[in-house]
Amino acid sequence: MKNQYYLKAKRIFTENGMLENHAVLIKNGIINNITDTFNSDISVIDLGDVNLMPGMIDMHIHGREGCDIMDAKMSSINTISSSLAKHGVIGFLGTTVTADWQQTLAAFSVLGEASKQSLPGAQVLGAYNEGLFFTETHKGAHNSDFFLRLTKERIDAIYEATQGTLKVMALAPEFTDSLEVISYLETLGVKVMLGHTNATYQQAVDALEAGACGGVHIFNGMSGIHHRDPGCAGAVLMDDNAIAEVICDGIHLHPTIMQLVYKLKGAEKIALISDCINAGGFSDGKYRLGELDVYVKDGVARTEQGSLAGSTLTLEVSVKNLVEMAKVPLLEAVHMASLVPAKFLGLGDSLGSISIGKRACFAVIDDDFEVKSTYIDGQKVFSI
Ligand SMILES: [Zn+2]
Repeated sequence: MKNQYYLKAKRIFTENGMLENHAVLIKNGIINNITDTFNSDISVIDLGDVNLMPGMIDMHIHGREGCDIMDAKMSSINTISSSLAKHGVIGFLGTTVTADWQQTLAAFSVLGEASKQSLPGAQVLGAYNEGLFFTETHKGAHNSDFFLRLTKERIDAIYEATQGTLKVMALAPEFTDSLEVISYLETLGVKVMLGHTNATYQQAVDALEAGACGGVHIFNGMSGIHHRDPGCAGAVLMDDNAIAEVICDGIHLHPTIMQLVYKLKGAEKIALISDCINAGGFSDGKYRLGELDVYVKDGVARTEQGSLAGSTLTLEVSVKNLVEMAKVPLLEAVHMASLVPAKFLGLGDSLGSISIGKRACFAVIDDDFEVKSTYIDGQKVFSI
């Protein structure tokens, strides 16, 4: 009975609903049962007056606590991993930004190594390329001096550098060979997300039909909705299969637009992302994102020109904001930060919700959304 124990909490957010005063039985790192009756031979850890929710997955994050994926250093990834665990995150996609090609490959190769290792906190679930293959008009905080055309050769180089762990490729789809490129990425099992793009509505629709899966931080860094030109945002929102990444800091999207996105995409096609940069977890000041200086004031990161440059957000705050600002039901908001990204990454059978048979990965939060502890495979990796 040594490798099993009950984790009891005031409220458990299971995949199918909330349960009061239940416990999760964990056996060898797996959720074996969810119950309110206890076998007296098995120890009970009573977490008390808290909520046990699924460990969160941040599928789009650049850095935290002074460290950046673009540092191309294992020590930086370890810092990001530990920092994310403080915020209830159990897995993430290390996300690049536009930079020198060789520097980008170096960052991917460290991510490839990291995804095969056990890290101190949140685990690397793969790599996300947000860089290089974009359009000047919506470059945001990307230095367009480094923009390149996406070719099969470049895809192969990135894929090899990540040791096959490239999960997401963000791209602007308005170039002549984009549809072939999208099909090729699909054959590799890499998800294409449309971003930093000036694509017309039709170009975005064509890209989605060719296999693209959704939009990078919806509305931000893409052609928006005009009543005579629905743009990339319109195409992503109206395609029932497309997923929308949402940065829910109250800055990137107005609360009414959050509600609009929720009404159109529903609970299963919104992925909450942090898009956090290396300033996350640190105070206001001057930072660096890729090749650009970034100024953080009141937690909001902008380039010298005033473009938003990622965020300093954490996912538990995103969930809180979505509930409070857009009136999204709590369990749905939680799953947008766990189950939706897990399914998107093909990990829905083992991660993303509190469900029998899944890995015992949890965030323990109080009613003010403060993370008290984080568990991965039944092991506590953070506690306050
Ligand atoms: Zn980003």
